[in-house]
Formats: sequence, structure tokens, C-alpha cells
Amino acid sequence: MLLDPAHALTTHWTYMLGALPWFARFALATQHHRVEAIADARADMLAHASEALDTLLRESGHTAMIENRGLIHTFQSKAGLAGAAYAIEMRRRRGVRLEVLGGDALRELEPALSTAVAGGVWYPNVRNCVNPQRMTEAIAADFFERGGDLVTDNVTGFDIGADGPRRIIAGRGSYDCDLVVLAAGAWSKPLAKQLGCDIALETERGYHIMITPPGTELRIPLVSNDQHIAISPMEHGLRLSTMSEFAAIDAPPRHDRPLHIFEKAINVVRGLNVAGSSSWVGARPSTPDSLPVIGRSPRFRNTLFAFGHGHLGLTWAAITGQLISQLASSVAPTIDLDAFRPDRTYTGSHLAPSRRG
Ligand SMILES: Cc1cc2nc3c(=O)[nH]c(=O)nc-3n(C[C@H](O)[C@H](O)[C@H](O)COP(=O)(O)OP(=O)(O)OC[C@H]3O[C@@H](n4cnc5c(N)ncnc54)[C@H](O)[C@@H]3O)c2cc1C
Repeated sequence: MLLDPAHALTTHWTYMLGALPWFARFALATQHHRVEAIADARADMLAHASEALDTLLRESGHTAMIENRGLIHTFQSKAGLAGAAYAIEMRRRRGVRLEVLGGDALRELEPALSTAVAGGVWYPNVRNCVNPQRMTEAIAADFFERGGDLVTDNVTGFDIGADGPRRIIAGRGSYDCDLVVLAAGAWSKPLAKQLGCDIALETERGYHIMITPPGTELRIPLVSNDQHIAISPMEHGLRLSTMSEFAAIDAPPRHDRPLHIFEKAINVVRGLNVAGSSSWVGARPSTPDSLPVIGRSPRFRNTLFAFGHGHLGLTWAAITGQLISQLASSVAPTIDLDAFRPDRTYTGSHLAPSRRG
């Protein structure tokens, strides 16, 4: 995949050398028994994700930003669909509702699908957020209403006393603290190191374009497994996203390559017009074992880590917030956090054998 110049998986080769230890751990985590155990831990998070988000949105009075439209994974060949059998079965064994359907049955569900789609998988219970920015603003407004405060500053370090960090050092000043929650996404690694833990964290950059108007009426979010493109109907148009680009977090974006990939989306959706779209690059914080880092620093009791959510940071945000607030107030967490502890090996070796493998 890395050698194919048109593939969605790419790296900057000079950067790759420094990332080799991450990839070595990733290779270890791909052993079958570890994949199954990792899937269990991810399923535990997913099982509580919807309820935690609904609670948060209900409390902020904004429930309308999540829609229940399901999700379709499309394949342009029967062989491609057959090749995904293991992943499909792995989800089915964990109770994910899904149906494997032929191209015509999928087009009945979603008439915007092109005749190039030979088959796919329909996940009726998947939900999507139609405007993540508006949702974040609504939750923040609720936080302010309850007395929360927001200070925007660039954290560079900590003043650490005998019991852990007591001041946060930032660009415009320093701030007293009783408790630190490090939740700086892909930027967390150097700060985590200062707080007592060397985390295997890489930046997996993704690109998206927003198409307004899209030129087509797509109702159900799609993932094209052949082209590695997610296509989501949003409040303002259609959002297409792609790419796993392992690169420095501040490397200049390379918009050409994703644009070529996005153009292939017209094979999947009829009448799609990708011209005149706006583009964006974002940094996914990714661990080699595909599990987030949620837990207490092994060195300091007053330091909590909450990052490393990879491709599912929006999906897992609310349940992570709930778990962190439970840790902060010494309440038993909703799920066992051992799988996500910061001082693990990041190869999956710390996990118990799967219950469903
Ligand atoms: C193209 C693309 C598509 C995606 N699609 C989905 C999807 O469909 N569903 C899903 O669940 N997830 C999706 N994701 C993944 C999701 O966006 C991430 O997992 C999520 O943003 C991670 O959240 P976070 O809060 O940990 O980090 P971020 O969202 O990156 O937030 C980290 C914050 O910390 C701040 N920060 C960093 N360093 C410092 C510092 N030193 N001092 C102060 N502040 C600092 C940053 O400015 C930023 O505001 C997608 C990602 C991309 C790139």
C-alpha cells in the first residue's frame, strides 16, 4: 500500500525512520489473538459511546445534531466483499447489527449509489453527527452556563512538586492546578513525557473536502472500501474524507493526493460533483494497538491522560469525558480501564485473551 502512489495510506519517507518503533509495535499488534482482544476493548468503549453522548447532549439541550441514518460499506467487486469477511464476522461476533447485501438491494436502500457498487454491508444502528462544530459549541455553552471557564493558551510544561504537577506553564503565563487532564490529541506525546509516561503515539493525518452543493441526494453515510473514502451527508453539504498519512504534525499539507482519491468517489455515488469544494487536513492521534490512552499517569496521582483516539475521537469523546470525570472524583469507572492504561506495551500484549474470538 505504501508503495502505491495513489493509495490512501502514505508517509513522508524521512519521517518514517523515526516512526519505525511505532510500526514495529503495530506489526506485533496485528497477531490474530491480539486483534481479537483489541476488538473486545474497542467494543467495550463503543457499547457506551451512544449513551454517554446522548446524556451530554440532553443536558445541553441539543439532541438534534445526531441522526440515525445507519452506514453502508460499499465494495465494487464481489472479491473485495469476500476479502472483508473476517472484519465483518469480527463485528457480528461482538453484537454489531449488520446485513451483507448485493448491489441492487443496497441501491434500494440508497438510490444515489452507482451501478459500480457490487455489494456491501448495511449497519442500521450507526449514527452520525451532522455538524461537529455546532455540537462542540453547544456542549461548551452548557459548560460555561454551569460555571466553567475557558483559557486559551499554549501549554509548554509543568512545575512539578513532590506530589505531581502544581502549576501549568504556558505561553502567556502559568496556572495553579490541583489536577491535570492531558487531552491534547496528537500533540500529547511530549507533554505526557514530562508527566511521567513515554507513549507510542503517532500523527495519522486525514484530509476532507466539503462539497456544497453536492449535486446529488445522498441520505445514508457511506464508506467506500475500494477507494478508502468516507462520504457523509452533513448540515451544509457532503463531507468526503480519506487518507492515513503518517507525517510530522506540522508538515505542509499535500492536498493533491487526496483530491485524486476524492475524484474516484464519483464511481460510487451518482451525480457527485467534487469541484469547488473546500479542503482541510486534521491530525488523528493514533496508537499502534488502536486503543486510546485513558487513565492515571503511573508517576503522578493528580494527572490523567485522555488522548490517542485515532479514527474514533468524536465517537468516543463523551464516554471518555465520563470516564475521566469518574477517575477525577474517585468513582468506579463505567468500564474497566486496564486496556487503556498509559504504561502498557502498545502491542496488545497487556490484554486478556478475547472472550469472543
Ligand atoms: C479527516 C478526518 C476524519 C475523521 N472522521 C472521524 C469520524 O467520522 N468519527 C470519529 O469519531 N472521529 C473521526 N476523526 C478522528 C477525530 O477527529 C480525532 O480522533 C479527534 O479529533 C481526537 O480528539 P482529541 O480531542 O483527542 O484531539 P483534537 O481534536 O486534536 O484536540 C486537541 C486539542 O488540544 C489542543 N492542543 C494541542 N497542544 C496544545 C498545547 N500545547 N497547549 C494547549 N492546547 C493544545 C489543540 O489545539 C486541540 O484543540 C477524523 C479525523 C480526521 C482527520
